[in-house]
Amino acid sequence: MKQMLVELNLNVPIAEQMAEIVRERQAGDYRCLLLHVFSGIPDEALVVSVCRELEACCDTKLIVGSMSAGEIKDGRMIRRGLLVSAMLFENSEVGILRFDDVKGNEVTTGIRIREALDAIEDLQAAEMLFPGTEMDTEHMYAEISGCRMGIRIFGGYPGGHKLNSPEHFIFDATGAMYNSMLIVTYAGKDLHFDMDKSIGWVPLGMPFKVTRAQGKHLIELDGRPAAEVYEKFLQIDRKEHDNAEEAFEFPLMARQNGEERLRSVVHIEEDGSFWLHGFVTEGMDINLTYGDPSNIVEKVNERLEALRRFKPQAVLLYSCVVRKTFWEGFVDMEMAPFAQMCCTSGFHTWGEILRNERTGELGENNITMLSIGIREGDAPEAELPEIRVDDTVLQGQASVLRRLTRLVYTTMGELQRAHNKLKFMAERDALTGLYNRGKIEQLINDALDGEGQVSLAMLDLDFFKKINDNHGHDVGDMTLQEIAGIMNTSVIGYEGAQIGRWGGEEFFILLPEMDEEKVMAFAERLRRAVDRHIFPHIGHLTISQGIITVTGGGDLDRMAVYKAVDDALYRAKEDGRNTIKRAAL
Ligand code: GH3
Ligand code: MG
Ligand code: MG
Repeated sequence: MKQMLVELNLNVPIAEQMAEIVRERQAGDYRCLLLHVFSGIPDEALVVSVCRELEACCDTKLIVGSMSAGEIKDGRMIRRGLLVSAMLFENSEVGILRFDDVKGNEVTTGIRIREALDAIEDLQAAEMLFPGTEMDTEHMYAEISGCRMGIRIFGGYPGGHKLNSPEHFIFDATGAMYNSMLIVTYAGKDLHFDMDKSIGWVPLGMPFKVTRAQGKHLIELDGRPAAEVYEKFLQIDRKEHDNAEEAFEFPLMARQNGEERLRSVVHIEEDGSFWLHGFVTEGMDINLTYGDPSNIVEKVNERLEALRRFKPQAVLLYSCVVRKTFWEGFVDMEMAPFAQMCCTSGFHTWGEILRNERTGELGENNITMLSIGIREGDAPEAELPEIRVDDTVLQGQASVLRRLTRLVYTTMGELQRAHNKLKFMAERDALTGLYNRGKIEQLINDALDGEGQVSLAMLDLDFFKKINDNHGHDVGDMTLQEIAGIMNTSVIGYEGAQIGRWGGEEFFILLPEMDEEKVMAFAERLRRAVDRHIFPHIGHLTISQGIITVTGGGDLDRMAVYKAVDDALYRAKEDGRNTIKRAAL
């Protein structure tokens, strides 16, 4: 295959500018010609007429166009230009699928896409171009992710140079499209892809939990309006003009299934919620991040090394518009080295999509650079020379920034470790390592406030005073630690089970979503485990237990629950110990 690029000059006939590509096609043994048109000029009529002329003079129907926030030609950015990337394939079958009326029909569109992709024989990769910033991509991608493993999927969202500009459209010779998707399908036994993402932004401070979100609308972090995070840590005020531009420099990083996904903030509402350029889901961990130039360069270098070994014949770069803003005058620095390998084209995007090869999950990214290496046939024997980003330009002014970001990073790491240790100590009982009274009480209360069924076991060691009296306090302590170990083992496999030391030699075990039968069986197994255990120095020891099962929710009297289970434990003692009594409200 071969890639050739033309930056169109609107004062010269298009046929003349495409002549070399047409000649190459006739001279070579090519099966098809695919044209990408990346436009930084937001003129619908113009770009459509360009596509029509290209269709006529190049004799190909394989044309896809996207609005661009910076066209990438030979690894360098053009501003507000019209770039044509021509890809000539020898043996592969390239096609274009079109899906209309996507908005409002994301799930059915996702299903149709999945079925269409699965139906194409030897499909190696699919490239999606569509204005995804406007759509419910979360549910559409969940469907598409189900397509055959091995189909690589990548793509970008169109958009212009300005924030909140209405320039998010794709196009071809039939017109401009605001609510459609074009998918280029690359099929063939001899066609190879190597694609991955480069990020490089570094998490800052403690993670927050997404407690309320709907698609791209992030409402609450840790139960507070999301904007408070920026207000508190970065003093970016939600009411200030252009606040999102500032928040842009500190994007959020979400982590799910081991993947990092950056999210840029497009707009901050008065109520403190955010509109993002990518979806988030409740329960995700989210961090503020900052761009550390040396780390970003390092990630790009890793990618260059992988591509060097792959030996591509063409590279597509789909890089986020925020990277352009971040690097300002240095934006070419991270793209130019790709062009040393082979012809490199692409555009600056408003969202980058990539399927995880391992999990099959189709992910939506922001602030990410996708590099897609393409090759037809086997890789040549000859090794490519090592290529790295030339970041010498950063050494001057940026080296202060580099050292400062390094300082922030290491300080944050130390604070994080100190915080984790404090949190552990505040919640744990020092002798046994189990949760302390405060923490277990909080966990139990939370469970009782929930809707589901909850079981509790309260236990107390039998005749423990005698152990202290006969063997000393140290042996007593050791015995409590030994008991903690037995309890920890007993809850293995019980999801959500929690153990706490209630005081002295009394403990609570919280067993969420467990019914009466099961908790009785659980308590009986624990009773037997202790009964059979041989404790160092003292030998035999038993426990008594009170158990209770309740349905949590609104009008449950917590105090009555604690009292009932305590009474049951007392009855177990009365009844001769080494036994279990069931409590009822
Ligand atoms: P019962 O079967 O009725 O529970 O008899 P018991 O002897 O266990 O009576 P009780 O529960 O009233 O006794 C609690 C004893 O546990 C009192 C105290 O000496 C001992 N104890 C409480 N906390 C600790 C501790 O941290 N270390 C040690 N070694 N002993 C403790
Ligand atoms: Mg006691
Ligand atoms: Mg006791």
